[in-house]
Amino acid sequence: MTDSTQRAVAQEADWETAPRLLDGAKELTLGPEECNLAYWITQVAQGTLRDRGVTGHHESAFVPDFLKQPGPLREALVLEFGFRGLSEEIATRLLAPYVEVAPGIPQMEFYATQLLDEARHARVFRNHLVELGMPEATLLRDIDEMAVEYRREVLQPVIDFTLDIVQKQRDFAGGVAVFAIVIEGVLAPAAELSERKWTPLSPATGEISRGTAIDEIRHLTVASTILRDHVRQNPEYRPRLREILQAGVELWDSIDDRRFVIHREELFQQGMEQHADRIGDYEIWPGTRLLDTRPDQRYDMAEQWTDEMAEARMAYMGLPVGWLNSPERSVA
Ligand code: FE
Ligand code: FE
Repeated sequence: MTDSTQRAVAQEADWETAPRLLDGAKELTLGPEECNLAYWITQVAQGTLRDRGVTGHHESAFVPDFLKQPGPLREALVLEFGFRGLSEEIATRLLAPYVEVAPGIPQMEFYATQLLDEARHARVFRNHLVELGMPEATLLRDIDEMAVEYRREVLQPVIDFTLDIVQKQRDFAGGVAVFAIVIEGVLAPAAELSERKWTPLSPATGEISRGTAIDEIRHLTVASTILRDHVRQNPEYRPRLREILQAGVELWDSIDDRRFVIHREELFQQGMEQHADRIGDYEIWPGTRLLDTRPDQRYDMAEQWTDEMAEARMAYMGLPVGWLNSPERSVA
């Protein structure tokens, strides 16, 4: 129950009324003037995160005991949240130069808040592993160990690519495009899939994912507005932006992230079948029962969502969606 004396929270930041990530990212049009530091304090810290500031979930949203026992489902969740925790930590560090090179106060404030959001995401993903029973004392080392290949093959190329643009070239708009379109444009659909998969199995896990998804709507939409305004005011920047986006598409083409995702989706599959009674007729998307889906089908759906979201955001920015195609890319 919401205390009626508390001020209403903006619809897109309210836990109960915020849209789903993909709907929000496709339909909302937030900008940096609106999502400034005061907005973040009142609508996010005191709004979205009210009663969920410590763990990312409400204390009434529990972690089921079967996820604390060894098994494929637990293994899938540990891998997923371990990798996501590490990715969010890296995202936090990558955002420091964005704060530094932001051209105006609204952009600087927005990226300062996004930096905090990502640091929070890293913390809640990581600490969820402790809630699952992993020892806190060795947590960071354990995550590093399980993510050695993921860090080297997926994260490091993305770090190098991003820092070259935002830190070395000090190209703020280019950096915004890389973060929102190349990085978060791909990760957001994976986050949506995660929320939908875990919700019927673990209320705590579902809530943690939901909270990060609400933040993500803001990250994607505000970045799109910054870019839209930048190319409106600086049309001569368009060819450079196109170059950056195509280099970003080529970067993903050169990275084999699929094998990491499919590996944990296969573990999820085994675990889901063991716990089929808990899932029942729950639909992962309208008309499809989670229990009837396969690992590659879930992966392909996330890819389809990536394309749909990119199409909507590119249209909003007044950019051709064709800029996100590469000749080698095989679109299913
Ligand atoms: Fe994040
Ligand atoms: Fe984000």
